[in-house]
Amino acid sequence: MAELSQAVLSAIDQARAGSADPLAAFIYDLDALQAHVRQVMAALPAGVELYYAIKANSEAPVLAALAPLVSGFEISSGGEIERVVACPTRKPYVFSGPGKLDSDLRAALAHQVEAVHLESLNEIERLQRLAAEAGRVQAVFIRINPQLPQNQSSRLAMAGTATPFGIDEAELAEAVQRVDRASHLRLKGFHVHAMSHQQSVERHEQLLDFYLQRWPLWKALAAHPEQLTHLNVGGGIGVDYLSGQQFDWQRLCRYLERRLAEQGSEAPILRFEPGRFISAFCGYYVIEVLDTKTSHGEHFLVCRGGTHQFRLPAAQSHDHPLIHLPRTPQPAHTAEQAWTVVGQLCTPKDVLSRAQPLKGVSVGDLLVLPMAGAYGYNISHADFLCHPRPAQHFLRQGELLEGAGL
Ligand SMILES: *Cc1c(COP(=O)(O)O)cnc(C)c1O
Repeated sequence: MAELSQAVLSAIDQARAGSADPLAAFIYDLDALQAHVRQVMAALPAGVELYYAIKANSEAPVLAALAPLVSGFEISSGGEIERVVACPTRKPYVFSGPGKLDSDLRAALAHQVEAVHLESLNEIERLQRLAAEAGRVQAVFIRINPQLPQNQSSRLAMAGTATPFGIDEAELAEAVQRVDRASHLRLKGFHVHAMSHQQSVERHEQLLDFYLQRWPLWKALAAHPEQLTHLNVGGGIGVDYLSGQQFDWQRLCRYLERRLAEQGSEAPILRFEPGRFISAFCGYYVIEVLDTKTSHGEHFLVCRGGTHQFRLPAAQSHDHPLIHLPRTPQPAHTAEQAWTVVGQLCTPKDVLSRAQPLKGVSVGDLLVLPMAGAYGYNISHADFLCHPRPAQHFLRQGELLEGAGL
């Protein structure tokens, strides 16, 4: 299992010292986040951009750490517009998602959204009307739900099948014509976000290949194809929570470099918008063991917090890896035992991990669940059972910042 850095270990000590009750807290290592993203950005070939999909983690310190490094942000609600507007470094942002409110679209127009990703034929008319009211010609992408090749099906498919996202390829010509006719919309390109959890670099190469083959055909539907510059290929780069074998981003980038060179002047400006792959690795959910017990032959560690604060393992149906930090040093001969790690909720579904082999765990020890920086706290039902919300701590240049008030 992964080792914890000295910086994270001392942040955990500080968090514990500041907590009156047994600890349940998130720690985000912003220095590690920045180091990771610098590598991700450095690998991008020329003519490829990367926008961070902030729904993965939109805490203010995370956005502030990322803004200087990424090309921009991708957002999906009025609340997320407020977060990017409040970020000390202003970056371009794009607005996707089904069911956009008029109030959200007005806010986006007022706050200089770079592009709106149109998700339906109705939305074209609605944005045209609102952009005309605002006196602004708005750049747009049409989000496409294409017919995907057979081998590209996925567990969390956003395209290639019936979904609320984007416009079916069969309706694309109609959509393009409507945007062309709209006085206050300007078509800048196309957007496809087809899946989440892509673990295979080969399959992702094939998927991008497929989009790049389609690009000239899609573009040709427009009255002025030469004005279409961008192809947003979405996010969906997976994180392997279990094996620790991570997606080979460097390889994908080298592949793209060759592929774009082949396409020459026909190549679009390519834009990625990953969320999970950017922020997952910087986060840790740290919980204290409150009780140990055996029930019908199974050994349980009852911990502070639970799946209402860190829903990710339940959402993914996986046994989250964990690192054991004993309160006192363990004797060398301690035997290993398999544990089921649960939280404080009064439901048998509150399981963070099963069959975890750990040595000599006792009450007061800490368990650290790594890779908790994306879709962790923010997808969780944190008010369940009226527990206090877990503290969120941000580690920056060796210093621990509290989330509140940043
Ligand atoms: C959620 C989302 C993303 C990010 O997806 P990840 O799987 O976190 O990379 C990107 N684009 C759109 C439109 C999304 O809805």
